[in-house]
Amino acid sequence: MKSFVHRGHVTKVVFGSGARRGVADEVRALGRGRALVLCTPGQTGQARETAELLGPLAAGIFDQAAMHTPVAVTEKAVDAVRAAGADCLVAVGGGSAIGLGKALALRTGLPQIALPTTYAGSEMTPILGETRDGAKTTRRLPDVLLGTVVYDVDLTLTLPPHVAAVSGLNAMAHAVEALYAQDRDPLAFLMAGEALDALAAALPAVLSDPADPEARETALYGAWLAGTCLGTVGMALHHKICHVLGGTFDLPHAETHAVVLPHAIAYNAPAAAPAMDRIGRALPGSDPAAAVFAFAGRLGAPRALKDLGMPERGIGEAADLIVRDGYWNPRPVHRDAVRDLLERAWAGEPPRATPSHPDDPTGARHA
Ligand code: NAD
Repeated sequence: MKSFVHRGHVTKVVFGSGARRGVADEVRALGRGRALVLCTPGQTGQARETAELLGPLAAGIFDQAAMHTPVAVTEKAVDAVRAAGADCLVAVGGGSAIGLGKALALRTGLPQIALPTTYAGSEMTPILGETRDGAKTTRRLPDVLLGTVVYDVDLTLTLPPHVAAVSGLNAMAHAVEALYAQDRDPLAFLMAGEALDALAAALPAVLSDPADPEARETALYGAWLAGTCLGTVGMALHHKICHVLGGTFDLPHAETHAVVLPHAIAYNAPAAAPAMDRIGRALPGSDPAAAVFAFAGRLGAPRALKDLGMPERGIGEAADLIVRDGYWNPRPVHRDAVRDLLERAWAGEPPRATPSHPDDPTGARHA
């Protein structure tokens, strides 16, 4: 007998090559007329093009968005919103530009549109992560949901292949954890599986021909689905580990996801059989964790936390932080097992089910 709760959000999604050309219509559809365009310093070209497409509806460009949404940047951007007399926000970029838009929406109440250029998926979630004095907090807030998301594959053609690889693995991580989420529902499971199929097919093709529009389109389609999963159901150990590592050691977001994902799958495999079966359909092999590790290797993604700048002495501190706050995970989270996982991920070793713990009913099978 099925029994579930599904929480749907009401973000309008426009998907297609050239869709960005309709951005002014989307601003008008929200009943607005002065859009401040947001981007990182590296994407001013795409922001300028967006401002041109907005024409008289463009109120200016704020180009200082940064990874992990520092509050100091947001405060400067609030001043820019006021100075420009903006009545809506248009973020062009990845999770950094979109995160800034959400932080501004929270402070100003303005509606938002995003034109995503990576596969991070933030545009589909009510999640806001912010950093103040080096500490990152993450909240789920309905107020930061976007009004409209315009997915134009053309904007992703410039995403360098090595960034596309890790960003795609970041998206796959959302889908993997949606498959075994505590509050998973049939729709989230379907979307997560479809996201994995799309990304598993598209990412190697993007790597071999970065200008292949079909591969880029399939990757963006998978990223949309994965982001929707992230916004719909709760995440577990994998996202907790990446959050702690990113916040504590300032590790790059997508790369950290790419390194940790196979290890988190190995950890949870004994307690998440349907999820493992579905991963196995997207990436065939007898062991889903090994299949994802091999896939990431094929994409040339980093494999070791030490190569991302994590100090070895940080492993114990990270393990403490990962087990400190209670949160749901399919398999109980024990410090020794998490430490073992982190040691492997730090060194770049292949994933392996971590040792069992006396009160872990699932670990015994894999000890
Ligand atoms: P990002 O937005 O920082 O982009 C990475 C780099 O790639 C930047 O320098 C950017 O300018 C460049 N770039 C992006 N798209 C490009 C393109 N098409 N062509 C050329 N260069 C391009 O990185 P990200 O991985 O997309 O986002 C990471 C941030 O998003 C983190 O702060 C993370 O915490 C947040 N995030 C939040 C959520 C959420 O739901 N709240 C979800 C995922 C990620």
